[in-house]
Amino acid sequence: MAISDLQRPFGDIAAEPLYIAGPCSAESREQVLATAAALAHLGVPIFRAGVWKPRTKPGSFEGMGAEALVWLQEVKQRYGMKVVTEVATPEHVEMTLAAGLDGVWVGARTTTNPFATQQIADALRGADVAVLVKNPVIPDVDLWVGAIERIYNSGVRRLCAVHRGFGTHETTPYRNAPHWSVPIELHRRLPSLPILCDPSHIGGRRDMIASLSQQALDIGFDGLMIESHPMPDCALSDAAQQVTPETLGLILGDLALRRTPVTHGALGDFRMHIDTIDSKIIELLAERMSVSRAIGEYKIAHDMAIVQHDRYNELLLSAESKAESLCVSRTFINQIFSAIHEESVRQQIELSRASEKKV
Ligand code: PEP
Ligand code: MN
Repeated sequence: MAISDLQRPFGDIAAEPLYIAGPCSAESREQVLATAAALAHLGVPIFRAGVWKPRTKPGSFEGMGAEALVWLQEVKQRYGMKVVTEVATPEHVEMTLAAGLDGVWVGARTTTNPFATQQIADALRGADVAVLVKNPVIPDVDLWVGAIERIYNSGVRRLCAVHRGFGTHETTPYRNAPHWSVPIELHRRLPSLPILCDPSHIGGRRDMIASLSQQALDIGFDGLMIESHPMPDCALSDAAQQVTPETLGLILGDLALRRTPVTHGALGDFRMHIDTIDSKIIELLAERMSVSRAIGEYKIAHDMAIVQHDRYNELLLSAESKAESLCVSRTFINQIFSAIHEESVRQQIELSRASEKKV
């Protein structure tokens, strides 16, 4: 589906990169106003605060609810900031629209559920607000695109995506692993959609925010959403990942904005070199697959099983140690060779099926 005619999510705010900051949760009027005052002073144009909080376990702080919308209205009036909050149900959407907020974000857990996303899309029909769609909890670009399409189909044109990392059972330094290839693929599919990065939920730790933010800008994200709290250690949700407005000012001030056009200088030569290497890689893979099909024919002729586990293990180990000797990551080579092997097996299975049909 083509997503076109998008408008700037926050109307007259054309800042690049676009910065959104504010606490994970709106906890009290004082906390909201103190944070907003400090962030407005830094020049942050958009204020975020969760009013309804999707918590993993019951009994945790679940947000102050509708009462906090009034504090967000006050931020708008006092500091001229745009204000956004998270919506997870049609009732949240109705209350947020009635309060005149400038936008909403759809959280990662909600984007994961097409029924919930459709209900939110229906409740947003006809509303002229910014809608920020966070990535789903799992690294599934189709699910993310699907949520964006549902909201687009409701007539929303002030759309934006937010990359907040993906849940994982593996041990990683992150709270939510970034899998940068997923937002990059989203951008390839929907080139006119702005994409922000939320380093707070990716890192889960305040000392990771500066480097994740720089990485995001270097990759080409259109802006950042960062959690900020006047007393982060006392925050009622996500305490470990929030920074004071003062620290946020230092982080934003240190970010390097690399603006040189990508067509610059020697880059063209490097790219030509890369293109030649890539086409050699494809030729070699085609050659490898044809040998692998010949092996498949041989196995069928001699009644042998397709997958020979010892051989596969040997192949992976030797590829990994060769890679290591050339300073190429073992994990990376393992992923590539697992994919190559999977494709070889698939092709051999196809051959074997074809030969069964002939018999
Ligand atoms: C948040 O932004 O505070 C939040 C709950 O977001 P996510 O959906 O990314 O977990
Ligand atoms: Mn949070």
